[in-house]
Amino acid sequence: MDFNILYFFTDKIKIYKDFFQSVKDKAPFKVEIVTSKSFLGGKFSDVLKKARNYDFFIAVYAKHFLEIETDVKNYLKNLEINPFINFLYLYKDAGFFKEKSVINGHKNSFLLYKSDNDEARAISFVLYMINLFSKSISTFRLSDYIYHSFKTVVYSEILQKKKKEIERLNEELKRKNMIDDLTNLYNRSVIFKLLERQKELILDEKIDLTDNDIINSSLSSLTALGDHFSIMMIDIDHFKDVNDTYGHLVGDAVLKTLGALFQKEGILRDQDIAGRFGGEEFIIILPKTSVDNAYEPAQRLMHELSELNFSGANGEKFKITLSIGISEYHQSDKTGEDIIIRADNALYWAKEHGRNQIAIYERIHGKPKKRGKATR
Ligand code: GH3
Ligand code: MG
Ligand code: MG
Repeated sequence: MDFNILYFFTDKIKIYKDFFQSVKDKAPFKVEIVTSKSFLGGKFSDVLKKARNYDFFIAVYAKHFLEIETDVKNYLKNLEINPFINFLYLYKDAGFFKEKSVINGHKNSFLLYKSDNDEARAISFVLYMINLFSKSISTFRLSDYIYHSFKTVVYSEILQKKKKEIERLNEELKRKNMIDDLTNLYNRSVIFKLLERQKELILDEKIDLTDNDIINSSLSSLTALGDHFSIMMIDIDHFKDVNDTYGHLVGDAVLKTLGALFQKEGILRDQDIAGRFGGEEFIIILPKTSVDNAYEPAQRLMHELSELNFSGANGEKFKITLSIGISEYHQSDKTGEDIIIRADNALYWAKEHGRNQIAIYERIHGKPKKRGKATR
């Protein structure tokens, strides 16, 4: 079994000493504290040379680290060829670790906590490690455990960044009148453009959307070519009753919640595109997806919605259901509208057959014939 070592690089030894003294015997791996003095004595590069898979490094920023910059940079280069060595660092907004591109470029190097306050960083770190130790058990591969735990930290960082980027983009899109205010989804005209674009991508032809850089950049995922795509047309069942019973504002809140549900992680894929088609109707474009594969996210949506409770102004609880029509792009489609007509057709079938269900056009009517028009 591999032996895990935690190398702890710091020149703030006093801050961390008590903590490591207390965990030294309990920790199911060896703790080595390396101070800046030992770095300067050449120990740092020795340690790096000896590093094996599943060893775990933690570096804490300190001004003396500047003096070992070359060593560390060389080491980080080696990390690229050894994905099993982990490098974690606490970041201070100055000096050596500002070279974030080098460190972040490696998938196993993680930024744990950013502060220019030594004490604050130490507390955050110690709390984190205590949590880690208390959870870990010796039979468990600790390195994996640490790796996965830190991954969570890292992912939340990435998510934060992604979220900010999406918020920025949304503001831009709203400014350009492309996002529906209430539901925060693409509006109808954007959806038509995107459908057209999706179709052209499949035909492997270029479409000139350069007048709209935002569409191009935010939806670069669409450039992933596939030979098919599907769409879902979604309509809220008996939505008029919601307005009539609870009022228009509650109706608006329902639409808003639904918009958020389409954007909730784990419901649709990143590359899927949700739009408000109008009123209480929505459309979702599913690139590289056959009708059969589109059934699954549609089911997920219905299931997720069935778990939600909506409330009226006086706290009355109610639920809503959806009818969904699905169709797949067909080579004979002349415009993006052809697929919409088919999905709409399936949607009406679902309505007629009792609502709260998913209908697939191709299962009801078969595949459209070459050059044939969809029937309504
Ligand atoms: P069905 O199951 O057949 O779809 O019945 P329905 O009541 O959902 O369909 P209908 O087309 O009769 O009614 C749609 C309702 O959606 C009527 C309209 O007032 C309401 N609606 C459309 N846009 C909005 C909106 O932005 N906010 C609110 N609160 N209601 C809206
Ligand atoms: Mg409707
Ligand atoms: Mg409706």
